[in-house]
Amino acid sequence: MSVLHSFRWRYSGQSDPRLRPSRRPLLFMLGLGALYLWVTWNIHREKQGRDLTRVKQDFPMMGTLVEITVVAPKARDPLGLVEGARKEIARVEDLLSPYKKESVVSRLNDLPAGASLRLKPEEADVLGVFEAARTISDWSGGAFDITFASVGNLWSFDPGNPRIPTQEEIAKALPGIGYKNVVTDRQAATITLAKEGTRVGLGAIAKGWAVDRAVEYLKKKGATGAMVNAGGDLRVFGKKEDGSAWTIEIQHPREKSRHIPEEGFPLEKDIAVVTSGDYERAVVVDGKRYHHILDPRTGMPAWGLMSVTVWASSAMWADGLATAFFVLGPEKGLALAARLKPVEAAFITEDGKILCTPGVPDSIRNTRLSQGGLP
Ligand code: ADP
Ligand code: MG
Repeated sequence: MSVLHSFRWRYSGQSDPRLRPSRRPLLFMLGLGALYLWVTWNIHREKQGRDLTRVKQDFPMMGTLVEITVVAPKARDPLGLVEGARKEIARVEDLLSPYKKESVVSRLNDLPAGASLRLKPEEADVLGVFEAARTISDWSGGAFDITFASVGNLWSFDPGNPRIPTQEEIAKALPGIGYKNVVTDRQAATITLAKEGTRVGLGAIAKGWAVDRAVEYLKKKGATGAMVNAGGDLRVFGKKEDGSAWTIEIQHPREKSRHIPEEGFPLEKDIAVVTSGDYERAVVVDGKRYHHILDPRTGMPAWGLMSVTVWASSAMWADGLATAFFVLGPEKGLALAARLKPVEAAFITEDGKILCTPGVPDSIRNTRLSQGGLP
């Protein structure tokens, strides 16, 4: 007390400290309290850091293998988070799969031309996907077009049971294609296929949307990092449990066990990286590769590229754009990508060249493919 007293006396600037009690002891106590809080907060953070675990599970879904990797404090039940993310993806599959009779897509395709499908309240978010598809169609001048399915339904790229339609069949179905035949009404929550013979398929954008949903769920539920990969449609956020960045690689379009670049490249920020390729679903007949990305103008596969990889903040947009760029080809694709900054894209041409927008990592840009031009 006497020490404090003399301190007050000497430094309070008062001639007689007893006349006006100083606030310094109070400030001193507050400072001590703040220091205590700061120390305990840091101990807590340190402890949480040590508690972070990474869990990964794979699920066969949406016609591919979906890998969900989650980093979270043990207290957040990382495995429970993986399961919650899986359910988000399952929901998207239920809503959009053409193979599920009750999906929005199946019910819409079953309606006669001009009849509107009224969405249930729990289905209404599907409108956002149709609207995004419409925007990408506008941007790409119709290279991306969900009504490709009007002709796409004639094709099968199942290697065990391929089907290549005749030119007559294609010519007959082609008038059904036209993205403007899909009319959405947000107020009424309806979707209408306005033209006879028009069918839709959201295969070019649904996986990306599913990945976005899973990632948003994981962020909301307290994961500190995650990577969700639906067969080449992937998105990451945060870091691995040791604080290092997620590392990924691009699939070599012709050699399944090889990657571009072989050692992978780090993703330093939250981002989606999505690849569309002519190898995912394809059959080779008489030395010609027939694959699942169709040119809506011809109803035939879009030739010229082996794959397109797109970097964007959302997996849905990256997914749709990768397909759009694939159909547009490298020249028009690069021009559109440049307009859509901060979107980045890498095009691998049929003869093995890699053409990139300026922001693509050098390790990809400088890769030389050992093998190009194979069917
Ligand atoms: P991946 O399965 O390799 O991720 P994409 O994202 O490119 O491939 O999607 C390809 C799918 O998109 C096809 O299987 C088909 O369902 C659909 N599709 C094909 N051509 C088009 C097109 N021109 N516009 C929109 N969707 C398309
Ligand atoms: Mg796509």
